[in-house]
Amino acid sequence: PEARRRRRISILGSTGSIGTSTLDVVRQCGGRERYEVLALTGNGNVELLAAQARECGARRAVTADESRYGALKEALSGSGVEVAAGRAALMEAAAMEADWVMAAIVGTAGLAPTLAAAHRGADIALANKECLVSAGALFVEAVARGGGRLIPVDSEHSAIFQALEDDQRHAVERIVLTASGGPFRTWTRDEMAGVTAEVARAHPNWSMGLKISIGSASMFNKALEMIEAKHLFDVRPEQIEVIVHPQSIVHSMVGYVDGSVLAQLGVPDMRTAIGYALTYPQRTALDVGRLDFAKLARLDFEAPDEGRFPALRLARVALERGGLQGAVMNAAEETAFEAFVAGRIGFLAMADIAGETMEALAHLPPAAAMDDVFAADAEARRVAAGLIR
Ligand code: NAD
Ligand code: MG
Repeated sequence: PEARRRRRISILGSTGSIGTSTLDVVRQCGGRERYEVLALTGNGNVELLAAQARECGARRAVTADESRYGALKEALSGSGVEVAAGRAALMEAAAMEADWVMAAIVGTAGLAPTLAAAHRGADIALANKECLVSAGALFVEAVARGGGRLIPVDSEHSAIFQALEDDQRHAVERIVLTASGGPFRTWTRDEMAGVTAEVARAHPNWSMGLKISIGSASMFNKALEMIEAKHLFDVRPEQIEVIVHPQSIVHSMVGYVDGSVLAQLGVPDMRTAIGYALTYPQRTALDVGRLDFAKLARLDFEAPDEGRFPALRLARVALERGGLQGAVMNAAEETAFEAFVAGRIGFLAMADIAGETMEALAHLPPAAAMDDVFAADAEARRVAAGLIR
């Protein structure tokens, strides 16, 4: 038997919802026998980070939260795992010589570390959609220049990636993103106006981190995904459709010029998309649920309502304008999301703030370099914070 080098992998954001699922997939796909874990990174939850690092034999564990260094060091004493803390340590860990990096930090905080991994030449398994929404073509170019592959993890984009026939890309007519509609799918705007973050985070089908759960309720998550799709699949805005599909079984679809539509289906479990990204272009056995079509009985579809979910309209505006509007929309939304979770603004104000910030910064010229993206991000946060006050 050939002596095979273990694949070197790192997981940025290992303590989150995607991160813990990724570790489970790695375990299911052969664990330490096949994968050498270089870096695991987290933020506040150093107890979980330490337990993960011990279990998979990681070379290094890094918390982005400098104040948690002592606690992490203590939790990993005697383990042989290297310990580091802070933003610079996170950047260094991201740039370790991994073959494959899971980008699963939430929000814009994930952009710079993911870029560091891309520059280093790793294959990027991209859960952090904010990278693409903010930096768009510059991000895609950075991964290509580094020499690694960009493999989508977001379930919709993984579905599209799987349904795209490589030699038929020229024959793609449209991308159909499915959306569950979230917990407020049938609610009126008046009913949504007073909801708290506790209510908004309860997703009917998926168990996810806080930000994406709130984003599913407001459909801001779908807005981000529309822009993500444009950059991943190089399609025009008018080729991107959204359809509400409450069961979350059809993960998304690709329509071709001959009228044919290819869909990818599965139970709502991110481990399928994560596994595909890990072993691409192969598939490996995974212990996840199987669809029972007789039990399912039906799949429903309905048109999205941009009146009740204005985030979808904002995504259209950002797609049409292009340039830095994605970065602005994303940063404004993140700022508004934090204010909503802190109880400072209402649920519906999130889209208002994002929309007003986009109008205020509609004049920004397209980004020439990554610094322009970070500058637009900072400016949008400043404008949005002003609106919140
Ligand atoms: P999460 O909140 O559960 O986990 C976030 C991770 O990022 C944690 O490890 C946390 O420690 C780390 N982190 C948070 N703030 C940080 C900071 N400032 N610096 C460094 N690290 C920080 O989030 P999640 O639901 O796992 O989502 C992660 C990403 O994947 C998001 O971009 C999300 O949109 C995307 N995504 C998630 C799902 C899902 O099912 N959860 C599905 C598709 C896409
Ligand atoms: Mg998704």
